[in-house]
Amino acid sequence: MMTKDQYIESLRKLKMNVWYMGEKIENPVDHPMIRPSLNSVAMTYELAEKPEYQEVMTAISNLTGKRINRFCHLHQNTEDLVNKVKMQRLCGQKTSACFQRCVGMDAFNAIYSTTFEIDQKYGTEYHKRFVEYLKYVQDNDLTIDGAMTDPKGDRSLSPSKQADPDMYLHIVEIRPDGIVVRGAKAHQTGAVNSHEHLIMPTQAMKEEDKAYAVSFAVPTDAEGITMIYGRQSCDTRKLEKYHDMDLGNSTFGGHEALVIFDNVFIPNDRVFMCQEYDFAGMLVERFSGYHRQSYGGCKVGVGDVLIGAAALAADYNGAAKASHIKDKLIEMNHLNETLYACGIACSAEGCKTAAGNYQIDLLLANVCKQNVTRLPYEIARLAEDIAGGLMVTMPSEADLRSKEIGHYVEKYLRGVAGVSTENRMRILRLIENLTLGTAAVGYRTESMHGAGSPQAQRIMISRQCDMESKKALAKTIAHIEE
Ligand code: SF4
Ligand code: FE
Repeated sequence: MMTKDQYIESLRKLKMNVWYMGEKIENPVDHPMIRPSLNSVAMTYELAEKPEYQEVMTAISNLTGKRINRFCHLHQNTEDLVNKVKMQRLCGQKTSACFQRCVGMDAFNAIYSTTFEIDQKYGTEYHKRFVEYLKYVQDNDLTIDGAMTDPKGDRSLSPSKQADPDMYLHIVEIRPDGIVVRGAKAHQTGAVNSHEHLIMPTQAMKEEDKAYAVSFAVPTDAEGITMIYGRQSCDTRKLEKYHDMDLGNSTFGGHEALVIFDNVFIPNDRVFMCQEYDFAGMLVERFSGYHRQSYGGCKVGVGDVLIGAAALAADYNGAAKASHIKDKLIEMNHLNETLYACGIACSAEGCKTAAGNYQIDLLLANVCKQNVTRLPYEIARLAEDIAGGLMVTMPSEADLRSKEIGHYVEKYLRGVAGVSTENRMRILRLIENLTLGTAAVGYRTESMHGAGSPQAQRIMISRQCDMESKKALAKTIAHIEE
């Protein structure tokens, strides 16, 4: 396995084409806008080095027999699925941000089982190729951007009916030695901090859309790839002199990028689906199922930080003994643990795929993510309630440090005796960061749209809930014979 420092050095060797605010970023690794998000991925390496976290952060590879980072692992049983969620909660607690590496892990598990079934039907060799690729990923402990979401253009039209054929990523040429692809993947978590992109189709496809049924792996610095780093609320605070306090979380962050593929060549050994349109839906369902499970871990870990911050804000405000504050903190814990319960439940109820790795219970994973589209919003609302309006009106760190007016900030922003004004400001900024700042991307809007928007889960719930068997139960109880 790589150490944290080896991971950072390995990224430095890549010659990625990254843009931010209209400018090309020559050195993404050390760029102040990007570095906090890289630090979050680095935490997945750092924690794996620690003996106390070995059980949850590492696993034994079924492919090589070697100990590997769990982020590269194929789940072998339900215990692995449970440990995955525990690992994500831990990483969320340690970064208070999106640590990005889960999209690769979820793609590995979905592609592994789907390629097995494609090969069974068509006699192709995608599974063998993918196993070789995954051994390479595991041996080198790589971070992979599992990439699904296309820009999609006009939502009422299928991929092949779009005015611009590139609105969904597609095959433009099939050669004897590989394929050429064009299109883009939108809001790609961790793209700039990854060694490779691992591409999947974005939805179920019909025969007319078969050029869009494509899965492959490609290095992030391959010829023809451009990454445009997304903006986040309050992001340019990172460039300010006093960014430490004013960011709320200056060490860690998450990020998304628009990844463009402009006629990129993919050699055959990195192609895992090529026009098998009837398997696109299966791959999407499995990847999104795994990623909906993931949110029952990562968002809960970040929620732990937010709850802790709200409780500290109450302490510092002298409000901790008020019964309504205690009750609000209990409610926040109740909501957060409800999400965790969903993450654990869909893992414990997992089952074996035809390929041999384990998949979550799809109904419960979709229920998990549906709750994530709601409960973090209520947790954030309660955190803002407890924090008070000062969270969004207080002066900056620069004012606190000012020789002329700093003493006013120091005097009038103080809460209880025994807690410094600075510490009170720090905790309020952390709450601001999680509810309105850079981390709000990961904690709020990503809770809504990441791993699929709410309606996508409702469709899956309607498919999986087996309504007929429930009707039969009711008929039996009511003595109805038809
Ligand atoms: Fe992992 Fe959560 Fe980020 Fe998805 S949103 S990559 S599950 S930390
Ligand atoms: Fe996500």
